[in-house]
Amino acid sequence: EVSIRNLSKSFALNGRDLDVLRGIDLEVVSGQCVAIVGASGSGKTTLLRILAGLEPADGGDVLIDGAPIRGVGSERAVIFQEPRLLPWLTVMGNVAFPLEVRGLAANEAAQRARRYLRLVGLLDFADAYPAQLSGGMAQRVGIARALAVQPELLLLDEPLVALDAMTRMTMQEELARIWAEEHLTMVLVTHDLEEAVYLADRVLILPKHKGSAIRTIEVDLPRPRDRSDSRFVWLRQ
Ligand code: ATP
Repeated sequence: EVSIRNLSKSFALNGRDLDVLRGIDLEVVSGQCVAIVGASGSGKTTLLRILAGLEPADGGDVLIDGAPIRGVGSERAVIFQEPRLLPWLTVMGNVAFPLEVRGLAANEAAQRARRYLRLVGLLDFADAYPAQLSGGMAQRVGIARALAVQPELLLLDEPLVALDAMTRMTMQEELARIWAEEHLTMVLVTHDLEEAVYLADRVLILPKHKGSAIRTIEVDLPRPRDRSDSRFVWLRQ
């Protein structure tokens, strides 16, 4: 369970303070997927980076299961736009490497990497190198790498934006399946409202101009997801 209370963040820009986030309240119930949409510059990535522990907040609380987050933690994993795979390691190596860094023995890391490569349908490519993969395949390796650390909370920053429309649709379906199978809690930043509505239980619309309402869309879809159905509710900031 993620709980954000009265979160604020500003950046110094051209000698002035730019208010990026102001008085944000947000709850993500365990097992839910919340999507954050909003105009460019509204602070979506900043909010996700704060949740990931990559950026400090100026004020407010960010709690996971009631405890304040401290830096990056292995209970959280982030998937970025580009997977940034290590080109000198195989697909298997890319997924296993972060596990070894976390102290898993090589054989355990390999076993777990195989499990998650199977989950994203890439076990046959375990020995391939990143240069031999398509963009969609590379992003699937990135997803396997993030899931292999077995996070409770998966943070996704426009994970499918670099992919073509068809691959994106397939990957949305895969993400929905993985999310359900792995009992993940997900926070998804996306520009794609259709993607947000398809994947998320709730969709937060972050306003660019502070002081205006944050809107939340409550999506109560039967599973498997029906792309045609959505229901919208609004929050405020
Ligand atoms: P996009 O949809 O274009 O990715 P976003 O909603 O994710 O945008 P952020 O990347 O969170 O927006 O940026 C919000 C604002 O904060 C922008 O105006 C940006 O210029 C500013 N900003 C973000 N990071 C920094 C930083 N490290 N230093 C100064 N300003 C920053």
